[in-house]
Amino acid sequence: MFSGKTEELIRRLRRAKIAQLQVEIFKPASDTRYHDEDIVSHNQNTIRSTPVHSAVEILLLAGDCDVIGLDEAQFFDHSIVDVCNTLANQGKRVIVAGLDMDFKGLPFGPMPDLMAIAEYVTKVHAVCVSCGGVAQYSFRTAANQDTVMLGESDTYEARCRACFPLQS
Ligand code: ZN
Repeated sequence: MFSGKTEELIRRLRRAKIAQLQVEIFKPASDTRYHDEDIVSHNQNTIRSTPVHSAVEILLLAGDCDVIGLDEAQFFDHSIVDVCNTLANQGKRVIVAGLDMDFKGLPFGPMPDLMAIAEYVTKVHAVCVSCGGVAQYSFRTAANQDTVMLGESDTYEARCRACFPLQS
């Protein structure tokens, strides 16, 4: 949530643009926290993106671009795995950003399968708000138990393993 995933995605996509590659960015239409057409990261670093209602839409919209960026990939259904393989098999570079675990500390949606098929995986970590350690968990401070509850700074906290309450 506060680990800089989107910033890292934007950094890589900017470099691809500088290299004169054709770049397209997609995100789930359900992620409407900010502006519809932009990927907006927590430090207001923005890049234009296209919201899609399903993963297969990406195949139709990808066209002849060289590099595909996906943000908030944890919100796609499992068909995103085949979509990423198809795009990569077409010779495109696919860069996926997403939350690996939900607020219960469980693998989030298609992320485990996406990590399995990826050539490279980079985990970026936040800073634990309790102890300052390396945080990989999103601790929900609200009582709501729904898995999908879009992140705002007052709802989630980055926590390390030691400071993340055990879930029963
Ligand atoms: Zn901690």
